[in-house]
Amino acid sequence: MPGGNIVECDLEITDGIISGFEPEVSAGKEIDAKGAFVLPGIVDIHTHGIGHNSTSDGNLKDYAEFEAKKGATAFVPTFFAPPATIAEQMRRHRRETDELGLLPQVVGFRLESPYLDHAGGGLSGDTTEINRNITEMLLDAGGGHIKIWDISPDLPGAADEVAYISSKNIICSIAHTFATIEQARAAVDSGARLVTHLFDTFQSPPHVKGGVYPVALTDYLLVEDRVTCEIIGDGTHVDPILVEKTFRCKTDARTVFVTDSNLGAGLAPDRYTLPGGWGDVMIAGPNDGVRLVDRDMGLSGSALTPIDSFRNAIQLFGKDMGTASSVCSETPAKLLGLNKGRIEKGMDGDIIILGPELDLKYTISGGSVIFKA
Ligand SMILES: [Zn+2]
Repeated sequence: MPGGNIVECDLEITDGIISGFEPEVSAGKEIDAKGAFVLPGIVDIHTHGIGHNSTSDGNLKDYAEFEAKKGATAFVPTFFAPPATIAEQMRRHRRETDELGLLPQVVGFRLESPYLDHAGGGLSGDTTEINRNITEMLLDAGGGHIKIWDISPDLPGAADEVAYISSKNIICSIAHTFATIEQARAAVDSGARLVTHLFDTFQSPPHVKGGVYPVALTDYLLVEDRVTCEIIGDGTHVDPILVEKTFRCKTDARTVFVTDSNLGAGLAPDRYTLPGGWGDVMIAGPNDGVRLVDRDMGLSGSALTPIDSFRNAIQLFGKDMGTASSVCSETPAKLLGLNKGRIEKGMDGDIIILGPELDLKYTISGGSVIFKA
């Protein structure tokens, strides 16, 4: 319930919307969740792939089915490819899904490349200098469905492009950057409101002579209240001490757990081949990341699924269920302006039902069961 408290009651969903809580409701269709936890569905705003699916290969219908099996009632397919390829992929997904209308879980697109200073685990051909023609080309290909756009504040023209993209009702996210604090603040002043997987692809503070303690860009972002910070919550991408520091600075109202999942997430430990020339990856378990076999086993996204991320908030980082639900559902939903992420009258009937061991029993989207264990 709002505020993170747990109550025992019946929950009614009518026409896809949460319509009431009663000691007992009689309904057309009933699910007995006695002894189970009923929580808002998980909202994953940063995911590149899951199971055998990825944004660049395969279709969003299979992607959404796998997400349902892992507790996500909303997700944002995220692209990391050269601009022309991203445009082609967005057009294909729009065509195949009747402008996303066939897949209520898909709440928009996200572009992680191309406006990045460095590619991190990605390929350098996926990045490019900021160019208004490229921006317009991508906006057109997205057909109004782009919701988040990553950008490095140290690229020439970044602040102007952040202002322009933000004016299209798209959230700009500070990403993959060695920017100075002044450059990052200029991006925030221009409208940037999110930070892409804080700590990962950011630099440690440089050494300073003479006993002066250096300040890092991440320190600024932790105390800049205008931005929400993403965390990849697998304990591998970010040390648990830094995750705790993020919770203390940002609180759960400005911390979002994302999976940044890649193809192979949710599959058995093995070697898989990524599309688009990324090569072979190794997966050892949900918390070990997706490792690039040909590039020193470097990390290329995580092997987390949404439900792993939620469970980690509790079991790995010691948070209570309300806090875990905030960072996995309520805060990302609010950021995107979705009518989701809380169990409250009038909100979308997107819920998950978990057993006592936090095992996923049901995923329900708009009142319809989309996964049953
Ligand atoms: Zn990513």
